[in-house]
Amino acid sequence: MTRWNAEGVHLKDLPYALSRVDIVSLYRNMNRCMLCMRVGVNEAGVCGVCYSMLDGEPLKAVLEWTMGKRP
Ligand SMILES: [Zn+2]
Repeated sequence: MTRWNAEGVHLKDLPYALSRVDIVSLYRNMNRCMLCMRVGVNEAGVCGVCYSMLDGEPLKAVLEWTMGKRP
């Protein structure tokens, strides 16, 4: 089973990670980006740098969080 806590999430796994409230909460609580582990994240648990590089499905999944459609 993949561990989510120490090394962050692969970009290809981002939509899955963002579908899991427990995973997003984990990175938000650590205030670490789930993709690059940089400090300082948004509501989706992703930092500004990674956020600006996203498009397609991963971006849509992040927007669900940043636009408040998720808890
Ligand atoms: Zn990042």
